[in-house]
Amino acid sequence: MNIMNVAYIGVGTLLLLWIFGNLYRRRKNWNKVICVIASNCTCCGRCLKRCSRHVLASVRNETGTQVAVKYPDKCTACGDCLSKCKFDALKLVERI
Ligand code: SF4
Ligand code: SF4
Repeated sequence: MNIMNVAYIGVGTLLLLWIFGNLYRRRKNWNKVICVIASNCTCCGRCLKRCSRHVLASVRNETGTQVAVKYPDKCTACGDCLSKCKFDALKLVERI
């Protein structure tokens, strides 16, 4: 077996692990959705950059700028944004 075959097998294995890992995460949390705890949120924006599905958004209201869940239907509850929040301002809750 030459070095290229080993590389192809390694990359293929990593790709499969990544795909099945993501499927498992989504299936595990299919009935959950992200929620912002406004009192803890500093509007740092780290979660906005992390969410590839653009579920979260910065919105302006009478009290200033806040981060809110703009498109809850697009949230897969993957938890990627949770890992970026240092202020304990995000949590996964049951979908209603
Ligand atoms: S849980 Fe995932 S999909 Fe939902 S807002 Fe966070 S990063 Fe986006
Ligand atoms: S990472 Fe946390 S504190 Fe920063 S904007 Fe998002 S929810 Fe707010």
